[in-house]
Amino acid sequence: MAREIITLACTECKRKNYTTEKEKRNTPGRLEKKKYCKWERKHTLHKETK
Ligand SMILES: [Zn+2]
Repeated sequence: MAREIITLACTECKRKNYTTEKEKRNTPGRLEKKKYCKWERKHTLHKETK
């Protein structure tokens, strides 16, 4: 299956906080998720990065 491990980085402080898997077929573009940033202690937008 076309599963890929990706890293999610906070768009505000640029730290790489999460790794997750995505299915390429379902998510062709860059994955974006609201996640808790432990460094800023708030929820921010996290984006897929390499
Ligand atoms: Zn952050």
